[in-house]
Amino acid sequence: MSKLQILVVEDDTPVRNLITTTLKTHNYRFVVATNGTEAVMEAASHNPDIILLDLGLPDIDGVEVIRRVRSWSHVPIIVISARSEDTDKIDALDAGADDYLTKPFSVEELLARLRVTQRRLILMQSGNHLQAMFVNGHLRIDYASGCAYLGEEEMHLTPIEYRLLCLLAQNIGKVLTHKFITQSVWGNSWGNEVGSLRVYMATLRKKLEKSAGSPQYIQTHVGIGYRMLKIDNPLKD
Ligand code: CA
Repeated sequence: MSKLQILVVEDDTPVRNLITTTLKTHNYRFVVATNGTEAVMEAASHNPDIILLDLGLPDIDGVEVIRRVRSWSHVPIIVISARSEDTDKIDALDAGADDYLTKPFSVEELLARLRVTQRRLILMQSGNHLQAMFVNGHLRIDYASGCAYLGEEEMHLTPIEYRLLCLLAQNIGKVLTHKFITQSVWGNSWGNEVGSLRVYMATLRKKLEKSAGSPQYIQTHVGIGYRMLKIDNPLKD
């Protein structure tokens, strides 16, 4: 794979330097923007592979940058947030961000997020997530017949568990917020279904995960939502 180009949007010089030094050391190409307007312009002119976007920018809000970029591009966006409030991250994810990093973060965390996003990029480019048969580790979903399998065994899922599983699979690698999931599964109703979502997710995971303590397929983001992880080497029985 040729070197990926990352657009780094960060007004804080020390943080920006930490990111660009890390990218340089690990063989990524990058361009830099220090405010939101510049970010939107650079995204349009350089067509980067991934955007690393600070949410607190001096001119326009990071969430607004996401909305503008999303009007023409599906480029993966990893949000960087200094704010401890989850609501900012949730707004960013609902506006179309793929993942987030909370400041202060380590170089290892940054690299791990980039690797997850790269895997998602490869899946998106191959169109694998849109095929009739979804495969991830031991999990297979046959969309045409509406059946899911774990290894050779058919999973016995309720209709809602199946819809949850498909939603996560179709967005593999992306953090989905509670709001996004409940609206996709239950529709645009006003009720607070986060409680029910937790229950359905627990029963789905009981059927999917080998070990409840160390889930392989579905990652929990406390207070935010869930993500299906791409599995490279499934655990042996
Ligand atoms: Ca900032």
